[in-house]
Amino acid sequence: MDPFLNEEQVEIQKAARKFALGEFPQVAEQLDREETYPFDLLKKAASLGFIGAWIPEEYGGPGLGFLEASLITEEFWRVDPGCSSILSACFGGQMILYYGTEEQKKKYLSPIPAGEKIMGSAITEPNAGSDVAGIRTRATVDGDHFVINGTKMFITNATIADYFVVLCQTDPEAEKRHARFSVLIVEADRPGLTRRKIHNKLGIRASDTGELVFEDVRVPKENLVGERGRGFYQFMDFFDRTRVNVASQAVGLAQGALDRAIAYSKQREVFGSSLASFQVTQFKLAEMATRIEASRALVRQAAWKLDRGEVDTKLIAMAKWFSGETAVRVVDEALQIHGGYGFIGEYDISRLYRDAKIVEIYEGTKEIEKIIIGRRLLKD
Ligand SMILES: Cc1cc2nc3c(=O)[nH]c(=O)nc-3n(C[C@H](O)[C@H](O)[C@H](O)COP(=O)(O)OP(=O)(O)OC[C@H]3O[C@@H](n4cnc5c(N)ncnc54)[C@H](O)[C@@H]3O)c2cc1C
Repeated sequence: MDPFLNEEQVEIQKAARKFALGEFPQVAEQLDREETYPFDLLKKAASLGFIGAWIPEEYGGPGLGFLEASLITEEFWRVDPGCSSILSACFGGQMILYYGTEEQKKKYLSPIPAGEKIMGSAITEPNAGSDVAGIRTRATVDGDHFVINGTKMFITNATIADYFVVLCQTDPEAEKRHARFSVLIVEADRPGLTRRKIHNKLGIRASDTGELVFEDVRVPKENLVGERGRGFYQFMDFFDRTRVNVASQAVGLAQGALDRAIAYSKQREVFGSSLASFQVTQFKLAEMATRIEASRALVRQAAWKLDRGEVDTKLIAMAKWFSGETAVRVVDEALQIHGGYGFIGEYDISRLYRDAKIVEIYEGTKEIEKIIIGRRLLKD
């Protein structure tokens, strides 16, 4: 029994696992090979309330907490990270939930849980990722519109989303560097917006990733989310919530790698005995399992606090960094246990190995997470 979870949460966890095990294994390899987004899976998962689990009931969602959403993410990623990209259909929604107007919430959040619309969140640019305040996309005012020019890079759901929350420079003359930005909602069909899919990613290849080019894209002023000049701060707050989700992805992936390593080590015969019977293997499994439990405890604690209104930035950064590193280490050891069969792609573990690296990169690299932890330690 997991001391962090009540009965309802255990049921949600079981339901998510059942869904992922029932739907992902038969399509995962093909989606990865063909780099195809699983729209059918999105619809099915939406019908069961798995998409945007944290979206309140008044906006069409199940109104669950961060902990429940984290459990769904973990169980999906445990089975297959690529198929789990359907959970990102709501990426950016929290910006609208926390900072949007009532009309924006009704218009842009409500269609997400049913899988009717997909959204994205566009911050990164070709010359600025970790240095968020270094972005150059400009939004200038023209009457009652903003006019956007610039390029966004590596955007999840770039070519399939219906709309994006976009970080733009609106006040370049502001004295404080971080006060120069605002968040705008941009619908994908606005004239002047061009989208390009990026192919041949290392992993999570069923996830859509691409580039957005804005050439005189006009959006009405009512598409401003939150306050003008507060966009940078709004996104930092946003990441505090979404990073718990990435940490849950990492825990799920690591657990999936361990599950596969245990199964393979029992079945594989070496030197006349099962691979699992050797202490070297058991030490490996023990280390993997312990790291996963430690990561999971950090993630559960961070999510539990968020559900009580406490945004513990240092703990969230710890959870994201540590679970990301755990995922990469564990999947490496799990592939090692599979030997040559792991390397040639005979088993899922090779796909998981490629998928793992992203959790140390997006939504704050591991170095950025450590910078956050270090700064907070010195400040406290
Ligand atoms: C598959 C995928 C999906 C993504 N989805 C989205 C999305 O939906 N929306 C979005 O806006 N972005 C998205 N990203 C972008 C992602 O968030 C960035 O790639 C990430 O933040 C790192 O930025 P960068 O790639 O520009 O690397 P850089 O910032 O150039 O960093 C390169 C390296 O330098 C290190 N580094 C940077 N600064 C420092 C420092 N001060 N001290 C020490 N080391 C440092 C980094 O940790 C990293 O190791 C996605 C990326 C990928 C690959």
